Amino acid sequence: MAFLDIRTMVFIYVGIRIGQALTLVYLWSTQRNYPPAKDWAIGALMSAGGLFLLALRNLVPAWFSDVLSNALLLPGWMIFDYGIVRAAGKRPSVKLGLALCATAVGSLAWHEFVWPSYPAQVVTQNSVFVIFDLYAAYACLTVSGTRIAVTFRLIATLLILLVMICIWRVAGGVFGMTLTLPPTLPRILLVAASVIISPMIVMLLALQTSQRLQEEINDQARHDALTGAFNRRAFDDFVNREWSRAARHGAPLSVLSLDIDRFKKFNDRHGHQTGDAALVQVSNAARTALRSSDIWCRYGGEEFVAVLPDTTIEQAVEVAERLRASVEKTKIVTPSGLLNVSVSIGVAERSSAQSHWTEVLVASDAALYRAKAAGRNRVVAAENTAPDGPG
Ligand code: GH3
Ligand code: MG
Ligand code: MG
Repeated sequence: MAFLDIRTMVFIYVGIRIGQALTLVYLWSTQRNYPPAKDWAIGALMSAGGLFLLALRNLVPAWFSDVLSNALLLPGWMIFDYGIVRAAGKRPSVKLGLALCATAVGSLAWHEFVWPSYPAQVVTQNSVFVIFDLYAAYACLTVSGTRIAVTFRLIATLLILLVMICIWRVAGGVFGMTLTLPPTLPRILLVAASVIISPMIVMLLALQTSQRLQEEINDQARHDALTGAFNRRAFDDFVNREWSRAARHGAPLSVLSLDIDRFKKFNDRHGHQTGDAALVQVSNAARTALRSSDIWCRYGGEEFVAVLPDTTIEQAVEVAERLRASVEKTKIVTPSGLLNVSVSIGVAERSSAQSHWTEVLVASDAALYRAKAAGRNRVVAAENTAPDGPG
């Protein structure tokens, strides 16, 4: 081939890897609080440096290009792949990875100075790539979720392609491929594939990061920052959906309205901060009393609402009683010691006479009002809310 020798192609690849590393450094600079972005940037910088040294093969002393390059390249590869594993929600063992890199570099030094063998070096180096890439691909394939999982599947596919290239390279190594050999079609394809795949991975990592950020923002938009309970916006969506479903199937649907008792006094006595801590702990205690299909929402101030699909008023009263008792026995941990609060709860069930969900909420609020009037720290059921009841 007249137009490009292998070294030139490898240098082109190194150039692309450096560009990729700089892109990832930029990603990291915009995503300081997302640890995988740091791994990708540092890992890519190290492997670009290592690849550069590797491309100097036969131009610099062999130990420099063969051993030192891999001392940079292999841990860099590990850090990069571990970033993908972390993004996929797993915790890779850094010690095990570094031990593997150290063993490989030791073996490379052995095959450089003691028992020189180029094929053995190629096999050693590529085995490490294969192990880390397969591990990262496996982590990507086990990600669940909707949009984000698709991106991880694509990253896994590209990693598996890289694994196949490594295996091909091992075959080349065993059959004596060196940078001094003229480029053949397989070698050109091999470098070309590497050149194409790595920017694609970087693109997908950036996409994954933006999707994750979007999910985080959506999540924040639906939750109350203090208690982590759903906020009004999420509540409206959920109750609308559940209301239509219940109306369509004639299924029961109950609502609890909850208000902390004498909370103004609690705040006055212990301070607003302690009041906030109490709100969080009341919310947590209540949430553990509910099922995962129920929605728990901070409706405003110290008022909460729970929506219980497929639940009759009798069952809802039992849940409310459990919830009330759980709050009553919860010791609120505060700087001024362990404190107690109580809650009053009104319960109502959807009735076929009601045309909008706000009507059942009005009924549970009225029941709550009666619970307060009757002395607080109690559960009161709304009257006449049974679906087929009179009135
Ligand atoms: P009741 O038993 O009748 O409910 O008496 P109450 O004092 O709890 O009366 P109300 O429900 O009207 O009181 C609401 C109080 O809740 C007012 C405010 O001091 C407190 N509050 C509302 N939101 C917050 C909050 O985010 N943090 C804290 N610490 N207190 C809050
Ligand atoms: Mg109150
Ligand atoms: Mg209130």
